[in-house]
Formats: sequence, C-alpha cells, structure tokens
Amino acid sequence: MVTKARHILVRVVVLATLAPAMAGGAVPGPVLKAAANLRDLAHAESDAWRIAASLTTEVGPRAAGSAGDRAAVAWALATLGELGFDEVRPQSVTVPAWERGEADVRIVQPYPQALAATALGHTVGTPEEGIEAPVLRVESLAALEAMTAATVRGHIVFIDQPMSRTRDGESYGDVGPVRNKGPSVASQRGAVAVVIRSLATSNARFPHTGSTKFEQGVRPIPAFALAVPDADMLARQASGGEPVQLHVRSTARPLPAARSANVIGEIRGASRPEEIVLLGAHLDSWDLGTGAVDDAAGVAIVTEVGRLIAALPRRPARTIRVVLFANEEAGLDGAKAYHAAAAEAGETHVVGLESDLGSGRLYALNSGVGEGALALVEAMRDVLAPLGIEGGDNASTDGADLTPLREAGMPVLSLAHDASRYFDWHHSADDTLDKVDPEALKQAVAAYATVAWIAAEIEDDFGRFPKPPETPADASPPEASADGR
Ligand code: ZN
Ligand code: ZN
Repeated sequence: MVTKARHILVRVVVLATLAPAMAGGAVPGPVLKAAANLRDLAHAESDAWRIAASLTTEVGPRAAGSAGDRAAVAWALATLGELGFDEVRPQSVTVPAWERGEADVRIVQPYPQALAATALGHTVGTPEEGIEAPVLRVESLAALEAMTAATVRGHIVFIDQPMSRTRDGESYGDVGPVRNKGPSVASQRGAVAVVIRSLATSNARFPHTGSTKFEQGVRPIPAFALAVPDADMLARQASGGEPVQLHVRSTARPLPAARSANVIGEIRGASRPEEIVLLGAHLDSWDLGTGAVDDAAGVAIVTEVGRLIAALPRRPARTIRVVLFANEEAGLDGAKAYHAAAAEAGETHVVGLESDLGSGRLYALNSGVGEGALALVEAMRDVLAPLGIEGGDNASTDGADLTPLREAGMPVLSLAHDASRYFDWHHSADDTLDKVDPEALKQAVAAYATVAWIAAEIEDDFGRFPKPPETPADASPPEASADGR
C-alpha cells in the first residue's frame, strides 16, 4: 500500500468557486481560475511517484492472468480505497493466461553464438529438442509479405526491421505490425519459426516482448524477439554470404483463461453525476521488468489526480472516473468488458484520456473532438501553457484502452508525453522504477488534473464520433491501437 503521510496534504480551498455555466464554446473564467489553482497545487504537492513505487515494489510484474495480476488488482482496490475516492469497485474480466518459460536462440552456423532472446507474448513453444533451420532474413514485414511460400517454406524467418527514435512515439505504430502480424505472415508462407528485431530504440542487450496474433486458421509457430545488438549480430552473419543456421527452443505455453478485473475509482459529480470524464491507464504489465514506465507511471498519474480532486472542498459537476484496465497488453480484454458494461448501462462518457506512454515530460495537448469543441481545447491549452505544454492537433486516437469507447463515439483528449526514451525500456527487463522521473510525474499530474477538472466542470460536451461523412473515416486501424502500448 501507499504510506499515508502525504494523503492529508491538501488543505486548500481554492476551488470553492461555484462557477455559473456559460453558453457557447468558451470556458467560464471561474472554471479556468479554479483549474489554474489546481494545476499549481498539483505541480507543487503531488507525489505520484510513491504510487508507482508502491505498485512496482509491492507487486512488480503483473502479466494478465498471473499471480502478479491478481496481486495488482488487490493492490489497486486497497490503494484507491484509501485515497478518498467516493466509490472503488472491481469489474470482473476474463483474460488469457500464458507461461513464458525459457527461450534459447543460438546461431549454429557459420559462427556459433548465443543470442539474447525472449518469446513473444502468448506464442507456442517448440518441441523439447527445439527447431533448427536455415535463416531467411527480410528487411521489413513488407518484404516478407511480397515473398511466396516457395521462398519461405522450411525457414526460420528473421524480420530485421529497425525502429527509429521519435518524440511522439509514432514510430512504434510503424513497426508494430512486425510483431503483431509478422509471425502470422511467416507461418502462412510455411516458416517453422520467427525471430524479430525487438521493437526498441535501445542498444542494451535486453529483448523486448509484446503480443502477437495468429489469424484464424493460421498455424501458430514459435516466435521470438532478439535484443537489438543480437539482431545486429545475426544480420552481420546473414550478410556474410554463407548460409546461416539457427537453433531455437522455447517452453512457452498457453494456460487456461483466468479471472482478472478492471479497478474503477469514482469521484461522483456534484450536479451531473451521470456524465463521466474518464481517466484511464492499464494495470497489467509484461512480465520481464516491473512494468514501471508501462504502465505504473500512468496508473500513478491518474490515481494521484483522483486523490487530489477527491481531497478538494467540493466535487466537480460531472463524475471523474479513474479506470485501471485489465489486460491491455494481450487483447484489451479490460477495455472490451468495460465498454460492454457501459453500453449495457447506457452510460454517457463525455470525454476520455488515457496515460500509457511513460513518464516523459508532456509537451502538447492533442484531441479527437468535434469541431465545435476546439475552443474548449484551446482554453485548456492556455491553462497548460505554464507547464510547458503548448499546441497539439485534433487527430488523436489515443489510448488503446479507449478504443472500444472511441469507436462508439466518445471523444478523446491526449496529453503527449515525450516518448524519446520510452521504447528504450518498454516491454523489457529494463522497465524498472529508476526510469520514472518524479518531477516529470508532477508535471503530468498537474496537466491531467487541469484537463479533467475543466472537462468535469463545463456545460458543453466535446462532440460525438464517428465524424460526419464529409470528413475521412477514423484513421486509426484498431490493430495499430490495440498492439499493447
Ligand atoms: Zn502500455
Ligand atoms: Zn505495453
């Protein structure tokens, strides 16, 4: 649990103003003033880091369906329970479970070398003796897709597509299909196994895992990620003109489906409680590290925002609902269960935000809202400017867990983290708490609190989606958003 010492820090009465609602798109002055006060309070006094420290230290790895996953649900119920939310509850979710086992990947010829490798999430293992076969190196998934079975059959396919470092993390969207689809594409062409260059920007010798998916009717084959320097090694040997022979072995295996839960903490709206402002993050993580940047940081940010607002002298007009989603990484099961229940209950989600891109400093506020709400977003940006957050676009389709709600029409806001270093650590054994910057978390809590407060206080909404027919259809392919940020 979290130490209680800091829980009583909020003593301010700065939000006592009851703002009269104003018609039109702008945000009433008193709401902006209260939001600015909350921003400053959060920046000065929030301490999300201790929540991230608690989750990563007391629970650690929490892959869906594992004992760590169950411990994380218990942790979240207890932690939110003691932080002042009006209501905290679990929402049952069925998730796939899986055992990573051991992975062994080695070059047999021409120059024998052991490679740092790990199984991709939810893949099958090899026979006990492993699989040995010639390597077929391809520079990209597109190159593999252009090949026929005559070329691929009987090989271990090596997809050697590099990932570039970008501030907005968009390069992950470019290479994501290598992991999501690559093994399936290789299997369809008769490959016996797949190794991919990790979707990573670090040259540390850690392989980066993540989920993959075999299409209906495609035979699952063992699939691995190589650490970046090991992919370089394999590429050098493969370019030497001699045939390369690889031996791979994995004891990975699927386990029976398991019970998990979304954990929901609510601050009930004072006058329009049925209108929900959603703040999301995901509670599960991969198993190799302690899931610090992915996504204890996000859990900590939205939980701390909830704690700060719950400690204020009054509630905002609308409900602020913090949702810690189950199994984002391997199927968005928590997001799907949440959406199904919300649809069944006829709930109204005014707008949603998810924090799932680490703890790098925020630099922009993006949106995916109706044109009529752009003035609201501009007003939010004005309040965020002192935090160094400026600008943004209206093309956001973030976060993965919001996908089902967004596809059903919920607008989204997205605070853009500097993700330059996120993919150095993401999904690897190197995703540990020392990568989370306490000062950057303060900025993030201040920004999320500001946006949530304004969204929960105004009269207006943010439009509804899908967009009108004259604009292009939603540009986000569900696979791209659902690939486990
Ligand atoms: Zn994530
Ligand atoms: Zn992830």
